[in-house]
Amino acid sequence: MSALLEVTGLTKRYPGRQGEATACEDVSFQVRAGDALALVGESGAGKSTVVRLVAGLEQPSDGRVLLRGDPLDARPRGRAARLARAAAVQIVHQDPYSCLDPRQTIGAGLAELLRLHARRLGRDGAGNGEERVTELLDTVGLPGLADARPARLSGGQRQRAAIARALAVEPDILLLDEAVAALDVSVQAQILNLLADLREQRGTTLVFVTHDLAVVRQLCQSAVVMRGGRVVETGPVSRILTAPEHPYTRVLLDSVPRPGWRPRRTRPTASHASTEK
Ligand code: ADP
Repeated sequence: MSALLEVTGLTKRYPGRQGEATACEDVSFQVRAGDALALVGESGAGKSTVVRLVAGLEQPSDGRVLLRGDPLDARPRGRAARLARAAAVQIVHQDPYSCLDPRQTIGAGLAELLRLHARRLGRDGAGNGEERVTELLDTVGLPGLADARPARLSGGQRQRAAIARALAVEPDILLLDEAVAALDVSVQAQILNLLADLREQRGTTLVFVTHDLAVVRQLCQSAVVMRGGRVVETGPVSRILTAPEHPYTRVLLDSVPRPGWRPRRTRPTASHASTEK
C-alpha cells in the first residue's frame, strides 16, 4: 500500500543571534494510511518542529510534505480549502491554550466545529450536534462540562478539551505532540484506547510525539528515532524495541525502567511530569 503521508528531506532553520539554528534536517519518513507512527527522541531532538511542519503551521526551509502524493496545501485560501485542510490534518499540542477560545464554552466550541464539518461528517440531522458534543466530552472524560469556559478548567482538562476538538473533526491524520503525557494515568489509558479504536475503526492515521515507550509499544506500528534534528533510525516498532540498530536508540530504550533494568547504563535525561495539573 502506498503512503498516506510522505515526508521528504524536511529541514527547518530558524534565524538566531548567532546565525541560523537548525531545528531539523533532512527528515524523511512515510506513514501508511491507518498506521500509527511514533516520533521519539530526547528533548530538543526536533520532533515538535517536524509535526508543526507536517501540520502546515510552519513552512519548511527545505523538503516537502505529501499527502496522498500531493503537496499539502500549507496556506489554504478560502473556506472550502481551509475545511479540507482541517479535515486532512489535526494537531494536538502539549500546551493546548491556542486552540481554545477563552470567550466560548467548550460545548459551544465543539458544536461550532461540528457544524462547520457537518456535511463531510454526514451528521447534519437536527439535534445530532448536541448529542455528539455530549459523546465527545464523555469520551475524553469531561462529562457535564459543556458549559464551562477554558479558564474554569485545569490544564489537564484543557488538554482533554483540545483532544475532543481534534476528534470532532475526524481527520485523516491526527498528530499528537506529547498530548497525553500530562494526563492522569486513568484518563491517559482511556484516551489511548480511544485512539486505538479510531485507528482500527475509522482508519485514522496517527503520529505520536512521545517519550513514553509503553505508548509506542501499545499503539504504534513504526517509529522514527530523532536526535539533534536528524533521524537516526526508523523501522517497525517490533524491531526497534527488540533489536535497535543505532546506539542512541539503545540508550533511549535503556533509560526506560523495566524488569532487569540497569540504571547505570543510562544517561541522565529530562524528567517528565506524570501528574495531571
Ligand atoms: P523536541 O520537540 O524534540 O523537543 P523541538 O522541535 O522543539 O524539539 O526543537 C528542536 C530545536 O529547534 C531546539 O534546539 C529548539 O531550541 C529549536 N527551535 C524550535 N523552535 C524554534 C524557534 N521557533 N526558533 C528558534 N529555535 C527553535
